[in-house]
Amino acid sequence: MSTIVKKLYKIVNETVFPPKCLVCRSFIPAPEGDYNGFPGQADLSLSVQIQVERLLSKYLCRNCIGGLVAVDSPLCSCCGLPFESRQGIDHRCGDCSASPKKFRMARAPLVYERIFTEVIHCYKYKGKIQLARPLGELLLTAFRLFWDKDSIDVVVPVPLHLKRLRKRGFNQAYLLIRNWQTIAGQVPLDLSDLQIERDVLSRNVATAPQTGLGRRQRAENIKDAFELLDETKIIDKRILLVDDVYTTGATVDECARLLLDHGAAHVDVLSLARAV
Ligand SMILES: [Zn+2]
Ligand SMILES: [Zn+2]
Repeated sequence: MSTIVKKLYKIVNETVFPPKCLVCRSFIPAPEGDYNGFPGQADLSLSVQIQVERLLSKYLCRNCIGGLVAVDSPLCSCCGLPFESRQGIDHRCGDCSASPKKFRMARAPLVYERIFTEVIHCYKYKGKIQLARPLGELLLTAFRLFWDKDSIDVVVPVPLHLKRLRKRGFNQAYLLIRNWQTIAGQVPLDLSDLQIERDVLSRNVATAPQTGLGRRQRAENIKDAFELLDETKIIDKRILLVDDVYTTGATVDECARLLLDHGAAHVDVLSLARAV
C-alpha cells in the first residue's frame, strides 16, 4: 500500500471504528501524527509514569491511564516491593531479610492494581495479542531505566507448561521480549550483545494455578517444576528472567535457583507488574 492509501485507510478506519479504552470502553481521541511513544535516550530521564502514559495512550483513556500506579522508590532493594511509607531510601524488606532470594534484584514498572490487571488480562486471556508490542516496549523501557544494558547477557522468559502453551497459543512473557531488537533498532539503541533465548528453561510440571495460594504453598507448588534445557546458554552468564506479573516471587526464585545451580553468574528479574 502506498503511504497515501495507508493514511486514508487509517483515517477511515478510525472514523468508522474509533479506538475504545480497553478498560472502560470509552472512546479515545486519536493521537496526532504517527507518534511512537518509545523513548529515545534523552527521554529516559522522564518518570516511569510519563513513559507509561506515552506507551499506552493508544489503548487507554486519560482517566484509566491516570489510575495506573508506577513503582517508585522507596522500594525493597531486592524484590522491588514499593514501601507504603513514601519517605526514606531503598532498603531490604522484612521478607527478603528473613528469607533471602536466589535472584539479585527484581523490578517492575507498574503496580498490579485494578486497571493494569485488566490490561494484562486483555493481553493474556481476551485475545488482545496486539498489546504485546506496547507492553514489550514498556518492559524494554523499564529494563533501560533499572539496568545498565551492558550488565545483562541473556534474557530468558519464564516458560509455560506445554499444556497451557497449547491452550493459550503463546507464551506471554516471550512475546514481550521477542521484538526487543527490532524496537531498539528504531531508536536506535544497540542491543546486539543481548541474547534473547526462549529455549533455556522448560516447565515440566503442570502446576495448579498459583492464585489464592499463600507464600509457602506457592513455593511448595512450584518446587522442581522447571528443567534446564541448555546449560551452555547460561554458564557464567548474567541472566534477566522475564515474567508478566511478580506475585510472591516463588516462580522466578525457583527458576533463579535452577539457573544458578547450573552455573549462571547471577539472575535478575523483570516483570510488567508488581503485586503489592
Ligand atoms: Zn478508560
Ligand atoms: Zn523484598
